Amino acid sequence: MDASTRSSPGPHSPKACHGALGEMLAAAEALCRARGRQLTPLRRRVLELIAEQDHPVGAYELIDRLSAERGRTAPPTIYRTLEFLQAEGLVHRIESRNAFVACPHPERPHATQFFICKDCGATFEIHDQRLAAAIADQAEAEDFAIERQVVEVTGRCRACH
Ligand SMILES: [Zn+2]
Ligand SMILES: [Zn+2]
Repeated sequence: MDASTRSSPGPHSPKACHGALGEMLAAAEALCRARGRQLTPLRRRVLELIAEQDHPVGAYELIDRLSAERGRTAPPTIYRTLEFLQAEGLVHRIESRNAFVACPHPERPHATQFFICKDCGATFEIHDQRLAAAIADQAEAEDFAIERQVVEVTGRCRACH
């Protein structure tokens, strides 16, 4: 996968095609193994359910899907799983939607910006170092210690506008 910090916007999910989804899951598994973490079957399935969608997926959608597949799945189980996937950089939380998207390149931490289509929900992850640097510069000027930054831009995607 492209590990450059700048990637061109594309449909968020690599995953329209199953080959790409399988590769992505295998890469996630290898990444966890290399870090001494375990991508358990549940974690893997949750990642897969998120990755196969083009739109951000909420916790309750996941709970419904998993409960249908494997019997009642308690919300805390899902929240813990989502925390793990976030901590490993495998998914990003879309704050404005309270939902999650799979990261196409989880190998290293990165500042993200998102374009989110308000019609179809398609979400595009971009990494613009200039934007991240501009925010860091302003924070330094204000002597502000950044803990977390969220850049989410809503609008209409190519297919919808
Ligand atoms: Zn990412
Ligand atoms: Zn759209």
